[in-house]
Amino acid sequence: MSKSRSSSRRIFLRSLSLAPAALLFVGGKSARAQDAAPACPVDTSDGLPGTLQYVDESETADQWCRNCHFWNADETGACGACEMMHRATPGSGHCMSWAPQEEEAAAH
Ligand code: SF4
Repeated sequence: MSKSRSSSRRIFLRSLSLAPAALLFVGGKSARAQDAAPACPVDTSDGLPGTLQYVDESETADQWCRNCHFWNADETGACGACEMMHRATPGSGHCMSWAPQEEEAAAH
């Protein structure tokens, strides 16, 4: 076997040994990107969500967009229209303008 052919074979074998690691990296990055992608992205371009301290995942007990007076669910129930901010928000969201729905307010 010639010297250059042996060298090419070594390079080829080395690239094969790195291929699984490269696939894991690409696959992992792809999976993380999917995990991070919100189902209902909120338009923050005008700054109103920030002003109202809006968050995609409510940290306030029993208060979510989905049980807010200003929220109207879409067909899926995951994404809805917020009448306060005039844009789509996920049911899991929350902001400082949260108000109970009328039937919920009447119960208290
Ligand atoms: S006003 Fe209600 S529906 Fe709109 S973002 Fe705030 S909590 Fe969600």
